[in-house]
Amino acid sequence: MTTLITGAAGYIASHAVRRVLASGHRVVGLDDLSRGNTEAIDAIRRHDQPRDRLTFVEGSIADRALMESVIREHGVTSVLHFAALAYVRESVEAPLRYYENNTAGSIALLQACDNAGTVERFIFSSTCATYGEPPAELIPITEDCPQHPINPYGHSKLAFEKVLADYSALRASKSQDGGRPFATAMLRYFNVAGSAPDGVIGEDHDPETHIVPIVLQAALGKRSHISIFGTDHDTPDGTCVRDYIHVEDLVDAHAVVLDSLEPGTPGSERPRVYNLGLGRGVSVREIVDSAKRVTGVDFEVRDAPRHPADPPVLYCDASKITRELGWSPKITDLDEIVRTAWNWMREHPKGYRASVTESANT
Ligand code: UDP
Repeated sequence: MTTLITGAAGYIASHAVRRVLASGHRVVGLDDLSRGNTEAIDAIRRHDQPRDRLTFVEGSIADRALMESVIREHGVTSVLHFAALAYVRESVEAPLRYYENNTAGSIALLQACDNAGTVERFIFSSTCATYGEPPAELIPITEDCPQHPINPYGHSKLAFEKVLADYSALRASKSQDGGRPFATAMLRYFNVAGSAPDGVIGEDHDPETHIVPIVLQAALGKRSHISIFGTDHDTPDGTCVRDYIHVEDLVDAHAVVLDSLEPGTPGSERPRVYNLGLGRGVSVREIVDSAKRVTGVDFEVRDAPRHPADPPVLYCDASKITRELGWSPKITDLDEIVRTAWNWMREHPKGYRASVTESANT
């Protein structure tokens, strides 16, 4: 089985590369390197020794001709589609880029899969941002919660969910007429944190906007302080509440869902949908406290205004994947999640590259 992993040099997808290799698949990793780090692929090659079971291609999902030739050349049968721009607050400043990359780029990839004709399984990295700002009575959020995004990032992902649903219905009807069967899943991630517990790869974004690495950069002295965006929300401590799942659990869920997809069987005309989170709300203030406990550093924390693109509370009902597939996350302790991130950051204070910008978070 050959699995194409898009965004392979990025934080989440690089962890997925290792996990899918461990299930015995051949992996073709693709990344345009606009935000990814080839050093992550190098580290996997050095440590896991996949040799010719791992191929890396530099390119964009939006390059349909390239994608089609990569899929044909390697006989790709499964796709894990991670490549995306994924900064909620940035998406407000650059909506066209988000639609171009996350929606139009994903359509180009799907068109390439269709043209190549070899792909039977397709898993799309979707997001809790597609749920928008659900009313209190719909939290914890189940998969059938109405989707009304409140930022361009959420809209750009929801648009491709619709495309994928329509496309899989078409493939199902074609497979009844003898076409290649197809099955797909959309995994709606809540917040992802932590690093591979063995320290081989980790989280390194430039710029960094995610709360866990930001607080750890403050603990490391790379930031003078951190700012909490919004301390007057209608939440227990006034700060935003999110649901943080460890990256290792997240990619493990992908491998389990991939194995469970049965192209051509009843039900495969519709995408499977699972929330991926721990099913527990954690506030920004609790992340800060955890980072202070784990690192032993009392860094400065400033209150800052809310950001309009930030929903106050997002955490999921995570029970559907457990009910249907018997899968549940293993790393459930917040400090443990933060500790794996800290261990990697301490070993790589400048990230994968020495030139990481050191900017204050204001
Ligand atoms: N956040 C914050 N300060 C920061 C970065 C993030 O207060 O410097 C908050 C952000 O407003 C959100 C939460 O932390 O409520 C998680 O943000 P992150 O960017 O990690 O993920 P998001 O939920 O926005 O995708």
